[in-house]
Amino acid sequence: MEKQNVPEIFGSLVFDDRVMRSRLSDKVYQSLRRTIDENAELDEDIAEAVASEMRNWALEHGATHYTHWFQPLTGITAEKHDSFISPSPDGGVIMEFAGKELIKGEPDASSFPSGGLRATFEARGYTAWDPTSYAFIKDHTLCIPTAFCSYSGDALDKKTPLLRSMQALNRQAKRILKLFGHEVKNVRTSVGPEQEYFLIDREMFEKRPDLVYTGRTLFGAMPPKGQELDDHYFGVIKPRVIAFMEELNTELWKLGILAKTEHNEVAPAQHELAPIFSTTNVATDNNQLTMEIMQKVARRHGLVCLLHEKPFAGVNGSGKHNNWSMATDTGVNLLSPGDTPYENAQFLLFLCAVIQAVDDYQDLLRLSVATAGNDHRLGANEAPPAIISVFLGDELSAILDAIKNDTPYQGKEKSVMKLGVDSLPKFSVDSTDRNRTSPFAFTGNKFEFRSLGSSNSIACCNIMLNAAVAESLKQFADKLEGAADFESALHALIRETIQKHERILFNGNGYGEAWVEEAVQVRGLSNLKTTADAMPHLLDQKNMEMLMAHKVFTEAELHSRCEIMLENYCKTVNIEGHTMVDMVRKSYLPAIEGYLYSLAKAASLMRSVSGNVRCNYEISTMERLSELTDIILEKVECLEDALEALKHSGDIIATSAAVRDEVLPKMEELRKYVDEAEMLSPESCWPFPSYGKLLFSVY
Ligand code: ADP
Ligand code: MG
Repeated sequence: MEKQNVPEIFGSLVFDDRVMRSRLSDKVYQSLRRTIDENAELDEDIAEAVASEMRNWALEHGATHYTHWFQPLTGITAEKHDSFISPSPDGGVIMEFAGKELIKGEPDASSFPSGGLRATFEARGYTAWDPTSYAFIKDHTLCIPTAFCSYSGDALDKKTPLLRSMQALNRQAKRILKLFGHEVKNVRTSVGPEQEYFLIDREMFEKRPDLVYTGRTLFGAMPPKGQELDDHYFGVIKPRVIAFMEELNTELWKLGILAKTEHNEVAPAQHELAPIFSTTNVATDNNQLTMEIMQKVARRHGLVCLLHEKPFAGVNGSGKHNNWSMATDTGVNLLSPGDTPYENAQFLLFLCAVIQAVDDYQDLLRLSVATAGNDHRLGANEAPPAIISVFLGDELSAILDAIKNDTPYQGKEKSVMKLGVDSLPKFSVDSTDRNRTSPFAFTGNKFEFRSLGSSNSIACCNIMLNAAVAESLKQFADKLEGAADFESALHALIRETIQKHERILFNGNGYGEAWVEEAVQVRGLSNLKTTADAMPHLLDQKNMEMLMAHKVFTEAELHSRCEIMLENYCKTVNIEGHTMVDMVRKSYLPAIEGYLYSLAKAASLMRSVSGNVRCNYEISTMERLSELTDIILEKVECLEDALEALKHSGDIIATSAAVRDEVLPKMEELRKYVDEAEMLSPESCWPFPSYGKLLFSVY
C-alpha cells in the first residue's frame, strides 16, 4: 500500500466545519452554526446559500447526484439518487441544487415498514435535513443525512426519535446543571460503538445458501478446532485481512469517521473496529456507514463481511459495545469524577440518574437490542445475559455503600461521605477490572452497554437510554429545584436513590447460573430471554407514559414499532426455516442418499468377491446414515408443519410466540441430525463447505 497522508484524506469527502467555514460567507456560516449548536430554526435564504455551495463543492469532488440519506425502520439506510441536472434552453444541462431540495425530500414511502402508521395509499413521507450531521459524498453522490416522517408528522425512522431523545436529555440535564450553578448551551450524549464482524472467503460464502439468504449458517458440524486455544484474540492479523482493514480505514477516514482501533476477536475469522466517540446522532450515522462500507470493501478483497450476531454455532458471535456518556458544550464529561467535592456531588448525581434509569427501564434497554439474531448470543455465556444489571467496580461500589449507610468509606483514607462538604475520596479509574460479563458497565468516565448485536442500529438503544436518563434527571430536578437547602436535599436524594435501586448493581459473574437465580428470585430483575418475550413490553403503561411524556415517541409510533420489530423477528426466522427445508430436501438428503448408495454398493461388491470381508465400516455407517435420513425426513416435515401453522397463528404477538416455541426448537432439532450425518460422510460427498473451510481459509 502506498504511503498515505492521513490528515489530508481525513474528511476529504465531508462537507464539514472546515469546508463550511472556508466556503460559506460569514453570515451564512454563523447562522448555520447556530442551527447546528442550538437547534435554531434555519431560514430559507441561508438554506439556499448553503445548498448552492454544497453543490459546488460536491461537483468539484466528482458528484453527479444527491440523495437524502435516511434510516427507515428496516434497520439499514435508504437512499434515492437524483442527479443535479436540469435542462438548459440550448439543449444542454446545468447542475442545480436548490435550498428546498436540501431541506426537504419526498421519497415514495409506501414500501418502507410503517407498522400501520401510514396506509399505503398515503404513500408520501418526507425527509428533513439533519444539519447536525455533516453531508458527505459516497459513490459520486452527495448524501444529506435526514430524518424521515410521514405527512401526519409520525416518525418513520430511527433518527427522529433519537434526536428527540437527545433533546429530552438536554432539557433535563440543563436543569440539573443550573442547580450547580452552570449555565451551558447544551448537553449532548456521546457514543463510541465498538463493532465486531466476521470475514470469510467470498467463494465459500456463495456456496452456502444459508449464509446467502440469512447471513448465518443453519447447519454445520464443529471443526476439530474452534476458539479454544484463544490464539485468535489480539493475534497477528493475516495479510489479506490487513489489506482489507487498510482500505476500510482509508474509506472511513475520507468520510470523516474516526476509525481508531482494530484487532482480531475471540472467534476464528472474527475482528473488531472501534472509532473514537462522537455525538450520538453522528455516531449513529457513522456506524451505519461503517457497516455498509465494511461489506463493500470486503467484496473488493474477495471476502464477505458477516455482520450477523451468530454466523456460526459453537464459536462466539458478534456484538457491539455502546460506550455512552453525557457532555456539555463546554467540554465537561458529566460522568467523569471531578476534582472538588462539589464536582463530585454533581458526578454522583448524574451517576445515580443512570443507575435509576437502568433499573426503572431494564425492559426498554433489553428490548432495544432484541432481534432474532441477537437472541442467540444473550445469555449464551459469550455475551451478557438477557438480564440487565449495572457494574460499577469495587471502589465506586464501596463509595456508594458508604453514602447509603452513612458509614466511613473504607478506602485509602477513611472518611464519611458528606456530599458537597467533604472531598470524595479519589478512586482510580477502574481500567484493570474488565468484567466482560456485565451488560452495562461503568468504565471510568462512561458506561458501556454491551448487549447490542453486531447488526443492531445503535439508534435503538440510545433512544431508550437517553429517554430513561432524561426521566431520572427530570425527577431529580423536580425535587431539587424546590428544596430549601440544596446541599442536604442533594445528599438525601443520592442516598435514597442508591437505597432504592441497589438491586440493579452487580459486580459478580453475569454468566453464572447462580446470577440468573439471584437476579430473578431474590432481586426481582427481569429476564426477557427472547425478542418475543421482550418486545411486547414496549407497550407497558409505564414505558409508554415515560416515552410520550418526553416526546420521544407518540402512542401511534410506539404501536408501530412494536409491530415492526416483532414482524421482523417472525420474518427472519421464517426465512431461516424455509432455507433449512430447502437445503435439506434439495441437497442434504440427496447427498446422504448418494453416499448410502456407494456404501451399499461397495459392501455388496466386496462380499461378492470374498466371503471373508466383514464390511463393518460400510455397514455400520450405512445403518446409522440410513436411520438419520429417516429422522431428518421426519424432522423436516415437522418444521414444514410449524412454518405452515405460522400463517394461521393470529396476531403478531401470537405469531412471535409460535416462532419462539414451535419453529426455532424444530430448527434446532433438525440441525442436530444433519450435523451428525456430516460427521459420518466424506467431505467430497457433502454439498456445502464445512465450518473448517469457512472459518480457516482466509490468510
Ligand atoms: P474496550 O475494547 O476496552 O472496551 P476501546 O478503547 O476499544 O475499549 O473502546 C472504548 C470506546 O469508548 C471508544 O470508542 C472510545 O472512543 C469510547 N469512549 C471513550 N470516552 C467516551 C465518552 N466520554 N463517551 C462515549 N464514548 C467514549
Ligand atoms: Mg468494549
